[in-house]
Amino acid sequence: MSVTRRDYYEVLGVARTASGDEIKRSYRRLAMKYHPDRNNGEGAADAEVKFKECAEAYEVLSDDTKRRRYDQFGHQGVQGAHDFSHMDVGDIFSMFDDIFGGLGGGLGGRGGAGGRSRAQRGFDLETQVELSLAEVAAGTEKTIEFEKQDNCDACKGTGAKAGSSPIVCPQCGGQGRIAQQGFGGMFRMVTPCPNCRGRGSVVKDHCTACGGTGRQLRKRVVTVRIPAGVHEGQAVRIAGEGEPGENNAPPGDLHCYIAIKPHPIFSRHNNDLVCQLPISFTQACLGGSVDVPTLKGTEPLEIPSGTQHGEVFKLKGKGLPDVRSHRMGDELVQVLVEIPRKLTEKQKQLLREFAGTEDGTAMPQRKGFLDKLKDVFQ
Ligand SMILES: [Zn+2]
Ligand SMILES: [Zn+2]
Repeated sequence: MSVTRRDYYEVLGVARTASGDEIKRSYRRLAMKYHPDRNNGEGAADAEVKFKECAEAYEVLSDDTKRRRYDQFGHQGVQGAHDFSHMDVGDIFSMFDDIFGGLGGGLGGRGGAGGRSRAQRGFDLETQVELSLAEVAAGTEKTIEFEKQDNCDACKGTGAKAGSSPIVCPQCGGQGRIAQQGFGGMFRMVTPCPNCRGRGSVVKDHCTACGGTGRQLRKRVVTVRIPAGVHEGQAVRIAGEGEPGENNAPPGDLHCYIAIKPHPIFSRHNNDLVCQLPISFTQACLGGSVDVPTLKGTEPLEIPSGTQHGEVFKLKGKGLPDVRSHRMGDELVQVLVEIPRKLTEKQKQLLREFAGTEDGTAMPQRKGFLDKLKDVFQ
């Protein structure tokens, strides 16, 4: 599984002397805690890893023989234990269905589609919305048009011809799922019924409109509210806008992934905006007020005399809002000191006069450079 494996007892948070019951209770508590349905957004990937780690630990510690081997030889002793890392979480959850005893149905976040009915929940759909930085700053509403497989109007999704209705599947008795012994009889494995593909019913006379699939392609237009401060790659979930579920199970969700258009002036660094501002070398020397672009217009910025090339100034609160706390980031302005490519005779004369009065010790870089030379030649 992973390179560094944690101790199974530590994973389940139990003592090495824990009874089978304690192990079961602890696993149940942790599996519910790390179940992906309860861990949306940030930390979801981490939770899934933990969820699988717990399943692996439980598989070993719940089996007396494997537990003894593990106690004696550690992870080496139970090589060939099941690798859960590439398994779908829903499958792991239903694999241990016995332990949860239908508790899965109480998991929130997906319209109660947990436990046994999970597998029949409709597919999630994905789409992308593109925002400008100004839209990120203020938050916005976007209208999304897309096509999805929806329930057929003619048969209401049953796939049965008008006037007829589907019959109860003889193989699973309408359950949609059948139980099999898995893992050497340790667990009851619940899988979708192959005869009705989990629907619990079979159609004899097919609906002519959809050919018995129960589905038709439909155009959807939905409006999605995008909160201010979102980041590239984040997703806004619109519950229920995915594909319909089998057998009246809840539909999936639509996930709108955020893409942000590049801005000609600003780049983004977390919640801060960064821009570069060219100033003349006389402005850098003498200081003064300059107008700095912001997302909403311009702001005056005081440049002190003796400003160096590359120095960064901060316009407090002129960045982007944090998506959660709404606290404003800053705008960071980096000044680029420009040297004129052309000078008039008069300017050259003035600069020569200036050069005659120059004091090398007032130049931070050159002073440092001369100090180093001194060190080298002493
Ligand atoms: Zn139909
Ligand atoms: Zn069936």
